[in-house]
Amino acid sequence: MRIDLHTHSTVSDGTESPAQVMRAAAAAKLDVVALTDHDSIDGWDEAASEAAGLGIEFVPGIEVSCRHRGVSIHLLSYWHRPEDEVVNAMLSKTRASRVHRARDIVAKIAIDYPLTWEQVQGQAHSAATVGRPHIADALVAAGVVATRDAAFTEILAGNSRYYVPHYAPEVNDAVRALRAAGGVPVFAHPGADGRGRVVPTSVIESMAEAGMVGLEVDHRDHDAKQVERLARIAKRLGLVRTGASDYHGTGKLNQLGENLTSREGYAALESAR
Ligand code: AMP
Ligand code: ZN
Ligand code: FE
Ligand code: FE
Repeated sequence: MRIDLHTHSTVSDGTESPAQVMRAAAAAKLDVVALTDHDSIDGWDEAASEAAGLGIEFVPGIEVSCRHRGVSIHLLSYWHRPEDEVVNAMLSKTRASRVHRARDIVAKIAIDYPLTWEQVQGQAHSAATVGRPHIADALVAAGVVATRDAAFTEILAGNSRYYVPHYAPEVNDAVRALRAAGGVPVFAHPGADGRGRVVPTSVIESMAEAGMVGLEVDHRDHDAKQVERLARIAKRLGLVRTGASDYHGTGKLNQLGENLTSREGYAALESAR
């Protein structure tokens, strides 16, 4: 069984539509694939119907932008009820703040580089959730940098002078809200440095206490040492070990199926619903 539980579409900062991601998943010989766009579930219906036609199992998911004491945390979650008002209010607040924040970042960049908000909107036209990758794409299209990656390194990094944060819920509040909505929360890439600070183990413990079910141990942004550390923590806390690609189409190097979740791990997530 090939199970990949972390992918992005044009609903957020992936480069392929939800249906295209499902077709790519079938081509990569996946049996189970989750769509986990940032802060939006707008891709669920399109992905579900495409996956049904392809004969692969679709898992409706999300990657919720959260924070804990100023540190950014990405929280994956699967199967929550799409009509849940608490979760929807939390996500709308984040998406609205992301638009203001993107405009603020663009205003700062525009002092030094030829970039307009309209150019960014052009890159984010089908996105429910606007992010720095759309600004990166506009910078590439404007010829300022060659790639998304170069845009992040040179202009959009978290420690850059142009960086502005957006609103994000406290992570334990998000865990509880998703759990109450029937979701199964999993800490995304918990050991990834290079996107800011890595949270201490005590934060993982508090998230587990709040109801978190799993830890994304196997992810490209973890070196062997982090994988070992996180696998140990998952075992000790009784958390499900997951693995996934974090596919973004051509927006990142990550390839579908490059990291997978075991059949047993997937069954454990399902039984936590
Ligand atoms: P934001 O959510 O607006 O703060 O932007 C973060 C997003 O940018 C994450 O989803 C990452 O996948 C993506 N990202 C971060 N660094 C890079 C990079 N070097 N190249 C491409 N995408 C990146
Ligand atoms: Zn992303
Ligand atoms: Fe993430
Ligand atoms: Fe992601």
